[in-house]
Amino acid sequence: MEIVEVRADNVYISLKQPFTYTGVTLHHLPYVLITIKTKSGILGYGEASAAWDITGETQESVRGALRHAEKLLTGQAVDDIADVWGIMHSIAHAIAFNGAMKCAVETALLDIVGKARGRPVSDLFNRTRKNKVTVSALLPITRDLATVEDTIHRILQNGFTQVKIKAGIDFMHDKKVLKRIRKISSDIGITLDINQGWRQIDRAIDYCNALGEFDLLWIEQPIAADDFEGLKKIREHCPVKIMADESMHTLKDCRILCEMQAVDLVNIKLAKCGGLLSALAIADFCDAHEQAYVVGSMIESTLGMAANVHFASLVNYTITDFGSLSFLDQDYATGLHLRGNGIDVPDKAGLGIAMNSPNASNDKNSYRFFS
Ligand SMILES: [Mg+2]
Repeated sequence: MEIVEVRADNVYISLKQPFTYTGVTLHHLPYVLITIKTKSGILGYGEASAAWDITGETQESVRGALRHAEKLLTGQAVDDIADVWGIMHSIAHAIAFNGAMKCAVETALLDIVGKARGRPVSDLFNRTRKNKVTVSALLPITRDLATVEDTIHRILQNGFTQVKIKAGIDFMHDKKVLKRIRKISSDIGITLDINQGWRQIDRAIDYCNALGEFDLLWIEQPIAADDFEGLKKIREHCPVKIMADESMHTLKDCRILCEMQAVDLVNIKLAKCGGLLSALAIADFCDAHEQAYVVGSMIESTLGMAANVHFASLVNYTITDFGSLSFLDQDYATGLHLRGNGIDVPDKAGLGIAMNSPNASNDKNSYRFFS
């Protein structure tokens, strides 16, 4: 199938409530919807999440980089996984970084191959597939402790067994939050995501030790992304497991962290490494080196999350980070359902979701789902 058209549209989706984590409060979510059309009329869809604090990308940069990638897409044949690999290699060679843009392009190509073959994306690989992926619930930084309690009760009622708490701005408040949660449940698995907020290594070690009483499963990205030595030092002096997220984008990062034994776990995200194929390579490396990992997400909408879910269905993750799906107020695709503590892996062709038409805004390149 020959690629004849590549299109990029800005999309904004509103959140049910503002979402706060260290350094960022999101009121709505900006994405670039990438649509790739083949000569036979098949449309493949992919989503680039503009998570500038993680990948450095914005809607503008995604669209700018895509203009260069477009030349490497138009006219190419995309019939199987080998074609997708070939195209993505040529894009990687021509354009550095830009993981979310590459992920969106690759997702759209995989969607095309799946639709043409009448098979789900996760069924295009010779691998065992799960029917359902397990999800950790998510709690953004929340100042009101009564709201924390209500949220934890709801999370438990919905069947979650693990929750990821965003933290790192105010240590004393974080301790209060953990105390309230442990009062409600001594069983629920708790992880903390600091999003680089503790900054200093010694402070991070003190904080980790002070949180020992809460029986945390792990603490994610306590300090700056580029401080691998610092992560290692914290790990050596801390009773809680340490995870790398912002520090681990690519297979190269994973290799270095693994060789250094700097962390206990890594967080694999399609938008950081450039898509499902690169993420599979990282997961395979982790499996071969007994490196534990979770499958994370960027608060993608149903479209981006579908790619994450197909990937997670193929690998031996510890848990997935897909609880953010419940924070979206509206969406421009349907077909993923958070049921209990899991998401069913779509079994229809391609990504297995249905696209809706977002509302056109005044900007001809933008669509909005603001409520
Ligand atoms: Mg994180």
